Amino acid sequence: MKRKSIIILIIFLFVALVGLIGFKGTMEEMSKEREEITRNYLEKEVADTTYGGEVFAEFHTFMVKSNRAYIWSYTSEYYEDDGSVYQGRASSGPRIIYFSNEKEPVDHFRPGHGSYYSESIKEKFPFYLHNKVLSFPSESGEVIQNLKEKIEYRAEKYFDKKIRDREEVASKKQIQKVYEEKDPEYWGEMVPGVIKRIDTEEKVVALTLDACDGDYDRELIAHLRKEDIPATLFIASPWIENNEKELEALADDPLFYIAGHGKDHLPLSVEGKEAYGEKGTGGVKEVMEEIVYNSRDIEEVTGKEPSYFRSGTAHYDEVAVSIANSLNKKVIGFTVAADGGTTFSKEEIKEAVLGTGPGGIILAHMNHPNSEIAKGLIEGIISLREEGYRFIHLKEYEDKFYEL
Ligand SMILES: [Zn+2]
Repeated sequence: MKRKSIIILIIFLFVALVGLIGFKGTMEEMSKEREEITRNYLEKEVADTTYGGEVFAEFHTFMVKSNRAYIWSYTSEYYEDDGSVYQGRASSGPRIIYFSNEKEPVDHFRPGHGSYYSESIKEKFPFYLHNKVLSFPSESGEVIQNLKEKIEYRAEKYFDKKIRDREEVASKKQIQKVYEEKDPEYWGEMVPGVIKRIDTEEKVVALTLDACDGDYDRELIAHLRKEDIPATLFIASPWIENNEKELEALADDPLFYIAGHGKDHLPLSVEGKEAYGEKGTGGVKEVMEEIVYNSRDIEEVTGKEPSYFRSGTAHYDEVAVSIANSLNKKVIGFTVAADGGTTFSKEEIKEAVLGTGPGGIILAHMNHPNSEIAKGLIEGIISLREEGYRFIHLKEYEDKFYEL
């Protein structure tokens, strides 16, 4: 009898252990990156808007298992009317987010209403989550309250900034008035007022890198750090959205100087001119917004207001350049487009860098990690240095800027 119970106990422990390991083995952690993607998905695809406002989402994760995230989501819309901010529709409840094999959210489930509510949860959620999910509002009210507070905080910050930015542009009515009278004569990359190079015979070269949108060429930045090559980084607001922490780190590194590259990465025109099929800003006010809003986005992360600007596509009319100058930004052009707008091969990039010449400003991109830019640039930079060239910060040569 005694032996029998010991055997039963051992079998029981064995089964429990296997069960526990098996269960743990299928659980996955929600990475920070995946959390961010899920939050974006909830804000853009899952939540409803009623007032054309901005949706904010936060969530609590019950578990992640084989391309599914079981979560409690809280979403709320906020909108602005006449300078005041109001809450629109809010929604709180369990959801399942389905991911593709590449970890992209592709679909979601939300439970039915009323009497279908618990039925549909029991159907779609794993059995061991049923009670947890059904009792979540009563048992874990403070978690939901926390999600709500996080959203309120983000919404407040978002609208405060939006209103402040707008007021800043509005407060510069004088600038607007002056330039609204003016018709531009030129359109292109090298129009009057754009700084094309440094006026010197010294063997010095300045590297400038544009960050236009999402991606980040970490390899390139790592190389520059290793070789101690200073660079001015032109950062567009869409890039900041995905790389806030990265921007903070770059701004803290004395090797890099952070400059503006536009709120929406637009060609800078006072009359909606196009460059590479991209329609530019449509008037003086839009030019100001493109510069000022981007400037504030950068300042918010780095604590410093940038004093250089380069537009998306690096196209301007001379009135837009003057507007930038009135907003205390120097407009930085380039001597050599070293990556041919990101189309060049490694050899072509290297050759372009080598042809820069004294006082040259090199333009390349830091948002194309899957290109040959990092390798071509670094090889070119090292060769140029072997020829006796020194890489400098634009700041050091500000008094020798050569304007067109
Ligand atoms: Zn760009």
